[in-house]
Amino acid sequence: MKVYAFGFPKIGEKREFKKALEDFWKGKITENQFKEEMSELRMYMVENYRTNVDVVPSNELSYYDFVLDTAIMVGAIPERFGKYEGLSTYFEMARGRKALEMTKYFNTNYHYLVPEIESGNFELLENIPLEDFLFFRSMGIETAPRILGPFTFLYLSKKDGMWIREPGEMEKLFTRLVPVYRKVFEELVENGCGEILVDEPAFVCDLQKDHWNLIKDVYSEFSGFPLTIFTYYDSVSDYESYVSLPVKGLHLDFVSNTENLRNFEKHGFPSDKTLIAGVINGRQPWRANLKKVAELVDKLGASAISNSCPLFHLPITAQWENSLPDGLREKLAFAKEKLEELKVLKEFFEGKKVNLPEVSFEDFAVDESVSKKIKQLTPDSFRREKEYQERDRIQREELKLPLFPTTTIGSFPQTSDVRKMRARYRRGEISEEEYESFIKEQIKKVVRIQEEIGLDVLVHGEFERSDMVEFFAERLNGIATTQNGWVLSYGSRCYRPPIIYGTVSRTGPMTLKEITYAQSLTEKPVKGMLTGPITIMGWSYYREDIPEEEIAYQIALAINEEVKDLEKAGIKIIQIDEPAFREKAPIKKSRWPEYFEWAINAFNLAANAKAETQIHAHMCYSDFNEIIEYIHRLEFDVISIEASRSKGEIISAFENFKGWKKQIGVGVWDIHSPAVPSVDEMKSIIERVLRILPKELIWVNPDCGLKTRNWEEVVPSLKNMVDLAKKLRKEY
Ligand code: GLN
Ligand code: ZN
Repeated sequence: MKVYAFGFPKIGEKREFKKALEDFWKGKITENQFKEEMSELRMYMVENYRTNVDVVPSNELSYYDFVLDTAIMVGAIPERFGKYEGLSTYFEMARGRKALEMTKYFNTNYHYLVPEIESGNFELLENIPLEDFLFFRSMGIETAPRILGPFTFLYLSKKDGMWIREPGEMEKLFTRLVPVYRKVFEELVENGCGEILVDEPAFVCDLQKDHWNLIKDVYSEFSGFPLTIFTYYDSVSDYESYVSLPVKGLHLDFVSNTENLRNFEKHGFPSDKTLIAGVINGRQPWRANLKKVAELVDKLGASAISNSCPLFHLPITAQWENSLPDGLREKLAFAKEKLEELKVLKEFFEGKKVNLPEVSFEDFAVDESVSKKIKQLTPDSFRREKEYQERDRIQREELKLPLFPTTTIGSFPQTSDVRKMRARYRRGEISEEEYESFIKEQIKKVVRIQEEIGLDVLVHGEFERSDMVEFFAERLNGIATTQNGWVLSYGSRCYRPPIIYGTVSRTGPMTLKEITYAQSLTEKPVKGMLTGPITIMGWSYYREDIPEEEIAYQIALAINEEVKDLEKAGIKIIQIDEPAFREKAPIKKSRWPEYFEWAINAFNLAANAKAETQIHAHMCYSDFNEIIEYIHRLEFDVISIEASRSKGEIISAFENFKGWKKQIGVGVWDIHSPAVPSVDEMKSIIERVLRILPKELIWVNPDCGLKTRNWEEVVPSLKNMVDLAKKLRKEY
């Protein structure tokens, strides 16, 4: 039995990666010191592999993003960055003023940089995998370099602002790209490299026959090289074509669903290739039922095993988590523990006496009252008492808002004072009263500022929240938060996904105090601010022995209780944030109807408010093009979306939907940029939207929350936004 593993997190047990990277950006350490730190982390990763697995991957520590590294490798550097000058160009592309666009990596919460293909004159600019291979060689360690494959690279790239997905177009680009990859492989083999791990996760997407013909052509050009291909996050779209590729080994994900297994049973697996069975889950943090896993490996007759997908979706280790609920830590396996599981499996197959533990969740109490509520749900539970048109009439009477109402998405700058106070409170250095009065002061300040600027619907600023998901996770039953379970989201940015381990229910009001306090300070409506069930679930870990639908409904019921409490306290507008609603959709469209059915129900259950209550849904950075029919079924009254990057073009998705009647909050300010948007710039976005929507349906707001911005940018930008609304009211 041969053990492979890949994608071990690069952040380090104490987030050394983040620290070194940010120190380097701030000029606190030199380039050499930075590279030194990175080498230590690379050694740390490789040491973890070496103690547990047989094939040790290299080229896994990108300084920012591995897709960007691949773009550098093949010389795909847009004109505007000038001549490639090492790290300075690299970080300009990653986070400079004209940085590459960032988007979600498949259906995960990792964000990669979208390569821009301009000329398509690829060249081998820097053989990064070889450099890393030689680095380890010099330390006496043999590694198998891991490289993002050419198909996936193009699939994740854009040309002239559009995805490169059409087989004909891909084919043209491959003529120049394939020789570059060949060169990379050649140089590796010349230097004695015996195995190259090629990641092709795009093979699991909805591909057509023509794509697969292309893939076969591309890989036939590599047939002499010792390649092993890895696919994950779903089953491969064409199993038979996949297993006939002329390579040494093929990895298949047997965890994400059962389709690969069914295809294996139907079509078998060629005897001249190595099947690497991805059987240890890289996305969820639970210990595996190793007995069952061993049975599966047996059934597959696999002589090699691995994790199902990269391990960087997990924190490094659960070992030091001391404040988890009783019995939880024993059930957790983060990246390090996953490697150990692979090792135990190997030992088992080699006939060593090992014990294959069974994991059971039976000792976690089930809250029957919640299960009962879910059983009693009826179609009416997912439907508001009145239709939108009727609600709209009531709400307009109640709220009396002007045309083009202005608002923000929720958070205001989380300055270092705010973060420091929270840290001190968490460490017990200041009392609860002191912390709460500090938060109250922040709320008071932000309400005044919003009134002075002249916004129509105010928010309380979210100063009490560390993170929109963690905040609710800390307050709900059945969800644990970790002390050190950091996962990289992009660049140097980390977050700690909560762990949904039991029945989710509300312990009591979660947001009431802050929202009602804010409302008590103003005559203008203050929006209640909640995170929706799909986003809480999507950005947390959760159990796989409970149907996803059930978990989503549990959370939705808890959120709905909060909605009811806010209503009782006189709050007239409630926003439910669902930025993960689109991203959580399965990779394959054939599974969309099933997903959207329960996802829509969960949102509607949470949003089931009185007709008088105006429900806002916030979904930023989502592509609505193919999901507009589903969006239409959500029971909100207003949806706020990001629109500035596409200059309002995102609205075309709504244009194609006949009979769109609900209000849309148009994001006119790109909150990722430090630039203050001008009135005219924002006006052109609204004008684009006005071509398809009547003025009565349009709100004006930023793309997303203002948490990461500075006050110096926020005040003038919001003033411009309000000026814009005034101008629009005169003109239209
Ligand atoms: N209300 C949240 C905020 O403003 C929304 C964040 C998000 O959509 N990612 O911070
Ligand atoms: Zn947002």
